[in-house]
Amino acid sequence: MVTNCSEALAATAVACTDIDFDVVVTAERAGYYKPDPRPYEQALAELRMTANRCVFVAGSAYDLFGASKIGLPTFWHDRIGIEPPPNIPEPLAHAGRCTRCSTWYARANQSRAKEADLSVKLFALTCGRLTGDLGRLMEGGEGRTELPIPAYLIEHPKGRVLFDTGMHPDCQHDPAARVGAGITKLFSFDFRPGEEVSARLAAIDRDPAKIDVIVNSHFHFDHVGGNALIPNATMVVQRREWEAGMDPESAALRGFNRADFDLGHKVVQIDGEHDLFGDASVVCLPTHGHTPGHQSLRVRLASGDVVLAADACYFCRTLREQRLPQRVYDRQAMLDSLDRLARLEAAGARIFFGHDGEFWKSVPQAPAAIT
Ligand SMILES: [Zn+2]
Repeated sequence: MVTNCSEALAATAVACTDIDFDVVVTAERAGYYKPDPRPYEQALAELRMTANRCVFVAGSAYDLFGASKIGLPTFWHDRIGIEPPPNIPEPLAHAGRCTRCSTWYARANQSRAKEADLSVKLFALTCGRLTGDLGRLMEGGEGRTELPIPAYLIEHPKGRVLFDTGMHPDCQHDPAARVGAGITKLFSFDFRPGEEVSARLAAIDRDPAKIDVIVNSHFHFDHVGGNALIPNATMVVQRREWEAGMDPESAALRGFNRADFDLGHKVVQIDGEHDLFGDASVVCLPTHGHTPGHQSLRVRLASGDVVLAADACYFCRTLREQRLPQRVYDRQAMLDSLDRLARLEAAGARIFFGHDGEFWKSVPQAPAAIT
């Protein structure tokens, strides 16, 4: 924290938060008023950080002068709700967008998380493809479209995580027997032996039995079917999704098959946002709407944030043009989730769309890591 006040006042302010600041630099201690870059330089020196690895959350527009002089990327937190003067240096993001303290804190904390994250790795695994009518998947769409079925491996010093697991291998031979004729009428399956999630992991020398956590975005067959191949993981799912899946009536309505997810894994049911490792590097984000408890995953890489949207956003155009699929569980909730993704993107995150074939061509596949 860099603050334009006395040591005593800063100590009082720090005591009012539950934030464990590594470094507090006050104007009094630095001997310079905040529009000067030196307090920021002092803070960086004490953090042993370079400006380009940090983010500064400015509480007043005037703070931007000092920070910008040393190239410190800045979010402006609109603390007191006044229009900024016209001549301030442009902040990287207007953190007036941060309406929640946790978002603000996550950004303020980014420099620390980034340090931990240098060792967080993200890999994309393609577990088959489906082809279906674009019009069903996106309002106004025409023709057929091929949908990649992604799963992601995240390697963190404290554990290995899969985000979604693709389809059950039975879909390689007789998809109708596994998912029902209703679904095979809508989609043609292109899913071959060797493309199931366990084989994809084995191909990059990762043992499926050594995956610690599965985060399922939701319980549709193309996201949870491979859970059966990952025997020792703990599942982390939104409580609402779990409850919808375990209730026979709502499971039938949503097209959930209990055989995909009720397999004896240890299950952690979460409500809303959930930080998997406690360092803000891998965080479940509720993006309900597609299903009752859909969630996305934010992964903080050294290069910045990646948000694995899953079916909160099938395609790039879903986000850009707000074109929803024909069938959703809760239309308004889905629009709210799209808004959230748009805000994350505006703040610098890269959004990874759920089933966008064009987008998918730009995503490096394992064993290459996403950087
Ligand atoms: Zn899907």
